[in-house]
This record gives sequence, C-alpha cells and structure tokens, in this order.
Amino acid sequence: MRTRRTSAHDAHGRGRLLTHGAFWRILRPIMSKKLDMEILASLCKRRGFIFQSSELYGGINGFWDYGPLGCELKRNIKNAWWKHIVRTREDVVGLDATIIMHPAIWKASGHADGFADPMVDCKDCRKRFRADQLCEEQGLELIKDGKTVALPDGAKCPACGSRNLTAPRSFNLMFKTFVGPIEDDSNAAWLRPETAQAIFAQFSNIIATARQKVPFGVAQMGKSFRNEINPRNYTFRSREFEQMELEFFIRPDEAVELICGRVTTLADKPDLTGEPQESWGWEVWLHYWIEQRLAWYRSIGLPAEHLELYWQTGDELAHYARACVDIEYAFPFGVQELEGIAARGDFDLTQHQRHSGKQMDVFDEALKQAADKLDAAAKEAFTEKVVAEWTARNQSPEAARAFVAKLFEGKYVPHVVEPSAGTDRLALALLSNAYDEETLTDDKGKTDQRTVMRFHPSIAPIKLGVFPLVKNKPELYAKAREIFAQLQRRWNCFWDESGAIGRRYRRMDEAGTPWCATVDFQTLEDGTVTLRDRDSMQQVRLSVPELIQKLDTEIG
Ligand code: ATP
Repeated sequence: MRTRRTSAHDAHGRGRLLTHGAFWRILRPIMSKKLDMEILASLCKRRGFIFQSSELYGGINGFWDYGPLGCELKRNIKNAWWKHIVRTREDVVGLDATIIMHPAIWKASGHADGFADPMVDCKDCRKRFRADQLCEEQGLELIKDGKTVALPDGAKCPACGSRNLTAPRSFNLMFKTFVGPIEDDSNAAWLRPETAQAIFAQFSNIIATARQKVPFGVAQMGKSFRNEINPRNYTFRSREFEQMELEFFIRPDEAVELICGRVTTLADKPDLTGEPQESWGWEVWLHYWIEQRLAWYRSIGLPAEHLELYWQTGDELAHYARACVDIEYAFPFGVQELEGIAARGDFDLTQHQRHSGKQMDVFDEALKQAADKLDAAAKEAFTEKVVAEWTARNQSPEAARAFVAKLFEGKYVPHVVEPSAGTDRLALALLSNAYDEETLTDDKGKTDQRTVMRFHPSIAPIKLGVFPLVKNKPELYAKAREIFAQLQRRWNCFWDESGAIGRRYRRMDEAGTPWCATVDFQTLEDGTVTLRDRDSMQQVRLSVPELIQKLDTEIG
C-alpha cells in the first residue's frame, strides 16, 4: 500500500500540463491492512480477469478460466518468460510436446509409483485433507517411517475440529484417462503432471537437431494437471494449471575438471550476473539460475522484499536432488512457493536411459581432447580421486570407474538444473501485488475513491486506453480512430468513447492500464495527444511518435 501526496502541478517531463478531468490529489490509501483475497477475487470476476470454470453449472473445484483481461495478462507473462529464457539467449531452445505421452515416461520418471500425497478423511464431517498440510497448519509433525506416514497425536479436522480422522492413505495425483475406445489398463494414460518430462524424453532428438552443445537448455511451457486433494487459496493450488519449465543441461563437475583443470565453486565468488563460464560447477550454475530468475521477477514488477528463498533440507529433498530452492512470494494468505529450482544431477536422463534402453549420453569434443592429453598415470590418479569422492557420497566404486571410463571417451549423461515456475501462481502474485485503493481529493475538496491495478507495463493486459474527447465531432473522432488503429497494431489498446473522461480513467485504472491517450481539439491543430499516467495521474502532451517511443521504452 502506498502513501503519497501529489498534485497535477508536480508534473515534469516534456509538454505542458493538462486540460481534461479534475486534478486529483491522493489523500490517503483506503487499504491499511492486508489485501483480502475475497476483494481481489471479486475485482477479478467483475473486470474479467478470472472466472470460476463452468460457473453456469455451479463451478468445478480447482479449475479456473481467464477472462478477456486475464488471458492477456497470462499471455504477457508467458511471452516475457519465453523472451527471458529462450529469445534473448543463444543457449536455450524450445519444445512444445503433447499433454498425453507414453505411460512408460511416468514409470521411468517415478510419477506412476511415487507422485502421491497423503490423504485423510474426517469421519464426522466427511471433508478430505492433505495430511502434511493439516499437520503443518496445526504446528505438528507428520510421522514418517520409510514410505508410510501416520498422523501425530493431537491432529484434528480443520473444518469441524473432530479428532475422528482416518489414517493417511497415499493418493496419486495424476489424472488417468484411456487412449482409444477400450477402457482397460493396457490403454491407460495420464495427463502430464509437469511439462519437464517431455524434455528428457525428447532429449536425443533435440541434441541431434538443435546445434547446441552442453551447457545448454530446453524450455517448455504449457498445461499440467494434478488431481490435488484440496485445491485452495483461489487459483494458487488448482487441478489444471500452466507451468514454465527449463531444463538446463550442464557437464558433470568431473568433466569440467578434466577440461578446465579445476571447477569454479561458490567459494571462488564467481560473477553470477555476467556471462556463464566454462569452469562453473553445478553449484555455481544453480546460483546463476536463482539470480536470473529473481532478476526476472523483479523486472516484471514483483518487489524484491516480497520474494524469499527457501532451501529444502533433509527429507524434503528428493533422494537424487543435490539441492533445491523454492522462490517464494509473500501472498496475502502467506509466503508460498512460486517456483522451484533444483539441481537434479543426471537422475532423469539416466532413468529414461534405463527404461527405454536408449543411450542418453552426449559426446563432448572438448572433453575427449582434454582426456587424450592425459597419460596413463594421470588417468589412474584422476580415476582414484573420483572413486574416493563417489564412495564418500555412498556411490559404488564400480559405478565411479564406469563413469570415468566414459569420460575418457568424451562421453557422459548431462546433469541438469531445473527452474520450474507456475504461470497461474505468478499471475496471482502479480494480481495481488498490483491491487491498490486510494482516496483522492480534487481542488474543490471533493473526494473520490479509485481502485488501481499497478501492473508493470510489460505485463499489463491493456497498455493504452485511447479516448476521443467527444464523440460528436466527426473530424476529431476520425483522428482518434486513426491514432487508435495505428497504436493497436503495436500493443493491446482499448477504445473508450463513453462517459466523462474521469470515468474512463477509473475504468482503465481498474484494468491496470498504465496510460490513457485523449485525442482533443488541440490534436487537430498540432497532432499531440494528452497522455495520462495511471500511477501519478499526471498528464502531459506528446506527439504520436513521442508517445510510441515512450511506450516502447517502458513496455520493453
Ligand atoms: P507445491 O509444493 O505447492 O504442491 P510443488 O513443489 O509440487 O508445489 P513443482 O512440482 O515444483 O511444485 O512444480 C513447479 C511449479 O508449478 C510450482 O512452483 C508452482 O508454481 C506450479 N504448481 C505446482 N502445482 C500447482 C498447482 N496445483 N496449481 C498451480 N500451480 C502449481
């Protein structure tokens, strides 16, 4: 919530101050407490950001539709992500794979057997909950013993308070379907619960065609489905949602060591904001991607102070993962995960190699050349060093020897760092962050209230409102239509000719439109329009080329 005092006379920049609508001063913010999600949900429905799916028939729990403004917002998020991850880099390529894939993929990835949450039912009120979430909310520890879990003493139903709960049962979150007309298990398939697996399954095709060498990444975004036991917090935990995932393939540290003579670690204090270096080990790559992702979140308007890192520890960490960090956002209902970034080693590609029987290793010319320079004694010393390191990590010496032997041939299965973000969670974070209410007072002391969505221009659904000052002057109207048509070709603009200018501004404020351009009589004389800024409410006159330049710079 912002507290500001301003007046139209503070305006700076080119042009003189303006003409249309009252000069409002912002006296005080109305919202002094945390944003209530009900208020946000009501604005989202009223303005066409988010609707309940199938509302006409009473809705369906865990599914949401994005209306005219919401789908523009989501499209902008995805475009910004694609630009940041793929378009502006030379070392990342894209993939667009199917939602239903061969069921063997989910066997290899571990999802068929292990992608499950523990579920409990209240025997009194019949409501169903996730056992881990229920315990967390009640400050209790779920009892874990290998694969089985149990509720601790004191756990009670969050809805009715009863302690009459079932024991936790494992529930696989994947949606099952059947391919073809016969509904038997031989035709069973699953809707993907993440987009990432397709990248691993297509790895060989991509490396054969993309003219990329490790280190490089493959990005994919699209729908994922999880039959969440308890969808909640508005769109935060949905059953159908979109993900934006990157698998960034890197050399194993041992290969880096052979090529570069050493491995750069965090202790070397590498510059994580500069160009990636050949000597970087996995840990540096992980931190590099954390920096990249945090910088991107800030660039689309999420304040740094609302972003937190949570490092997974102990049993939270998957057995194959070397490290995993969650980028969390301070949502109105609590600090929660926006994105997970994991160093997954070579687990995924190795699993697919094992299950498909097809080789997933790459040939690395630089590695072969480095290995060829070593004499037998140096090779032996290197092998023994790696064996000692692997054994210290409880990996078998035989596996270490086989791995090193492949390295000497210039071959390895790449390791991976995976930044995995949710589009819908990010849309919700941006909506919560943008929401603001202000009380304004004009020069005569009249007060008014405005709701304003302070989106960053790059993700705002509408970039510019274009208004003719009046509708009954054909020449002025035609000029306004001409300017609108010109600008609409570049950005999503909104034409509004009804009501007083002040009311048109308010409607655009609620939609989060950063600027409004009014075409008036002066436009007919000198070609300038009045540009009103959503946040400062200041108005300046600009020519259309100047306006285009300003928007180009600020939208990015
Ligand atoms: P959570 O612990 O919240 O269930 P997760 O750790 O299982 O999430 P990942 O498997 O790491 O999530 O998925 C990557 C990203 O996908 C998450 O950071 C989140 O943004 C998004 N995501 C995952 N599940 C959902 C969901 N049910 N609804 C909306 N977004 C989701």
